[in-house]
Amino acid sequence: MKITAVKVYVTGRKPAANAPEAVAGAGGSAVAKKGSWLSETVIANPMSMYPEYFDRRSSWTGMGGRTIVALETDEGLVGIGETASGMATSPIIKQHLSRFLVGQSPFQVERLWDVMFKVTLPYGRKGAPIMAISAVDLALWDLIAKARREPLYRTLGGPVKEKVPAYCTGNEFEKTKDRGFLGQKLAMPYGPSSGYEGMRKNVELVARAREALGPEKEVMLDCYMAWNVDYTVRMAELVAPYRVKWIEESLPPDDYEGYGIINRKVNSSAIATGEHEYTRYGFQQLLDARAADILQPDVCWCGGITEARKISAMASAKHIPVIPHAGGLQPWALHLIFADPNMPMAEFAYINGADLPNQDPVLAGVPAPKDGWFELPQGVGAGIEFRPDADDHLIELEG
Ligand SMILES: [Mg+2]
Repeated sequence: MKITAVKVYVTGRKPAANAPEAVAGAGGSAVAKKGSWLSETVIANPMSMYPEYFDRRSSWTGMGGRTIVALETDEGLVGIGETASGMATSPIIKQHLSRFLVGQSPFQVERLWDVMFKVTLPYGRKGAPIMAISAVDLALWDLIAKARREPLYRTLGGPVKEKVPAYCTGNEFEKTKDRGFLGQKLAMPYGPSSGYEGMRKNVELVARAREALGPEKEVMLDCYMAWNVDYTVRMAELVAPYRVKWIEESLPPDDYEGYGIINRKVNSSAIATGEHEYTRYGFQQLLDARAADILQPDVCWCGGITEARKISAMASAKHIPVIPHAGGLQPWALHLIFADPNMPMAEFAYINGADLPNQDPVLAGVPAPKDGWFELPQGVGAGIEFRPDADDHLIELEG
């Protein structure tokens, strides 16, 4: 089997002027659209110190939309992959990576990954170029599993479990508390720029969540790179009575040493991070710094399944579990979770609010949890396909 074409699309409403509409969102390859709590509510973030960007992350995020890759083959099979920051990642695939894919066998996934990584080294290593490689890698794995006529988790050596528990991210715990999730991860609204009053409001939110969820559910805190070492240690002390399972991404991703410090100082909660880390080289730095008890690579960003497996193998040698960022929102990641003994649970979120089911306008077959659990995904490959009217939401890049 040979790859015959690399189709690259950015999501957005088709405009008259042929310029893709950037969709504001806080990242995540999942379906965030204008109006999502993810982009439109107060969530502490690296820009919170600038008053004009405090209220919503959509005031500063850019290069939005999703990149969708379709690898076509001479056998008629099509592999589908995806990443975020579509306006930045899609041209990398179309203008550069596609040259090394057309005419190649998708089964040589290790070779293709290595080639894509090395040809992007002059401008790559982290961020958009690795996200672009991730989308291609996921499409390759989808193709390999489709060619073997089996679900992707089987191609990856699984399943190692029949069901995967999900936790829910967001602050609508009053609405989601009875839906069977193992716990709720709160998006912390405030950081150091909001002073002690913000700290007190953060603690009140955690207290309300613990009260609503009862003693047996887990409560986690997501801090989106917004805090610092001192603030994290003080917050950990203040929320300790509410039994917080983990404090996530509280420092900027480059503060490896800081993560090592908070991981040593904070004993009442686990420290989790890695959502904005890339490749085994980045995760090696986190492991070397003993930066976290839980690592959270995003399979659609960190280098795809090929790299996520290596990251998980490295973490497993230190007995550190991997809980992929947005793993229950990304079909490829969910298959990997089912196949990897070191991935114990999946993140889920109601992207458009807890009253609405997630609706992907482009891809059909994206799994949803039932009573807080994911069951083994159905279908061959990653189990997804383009919806019949997907074209209305996709802008194809020209060669
Ligand atoms: Mg997070």
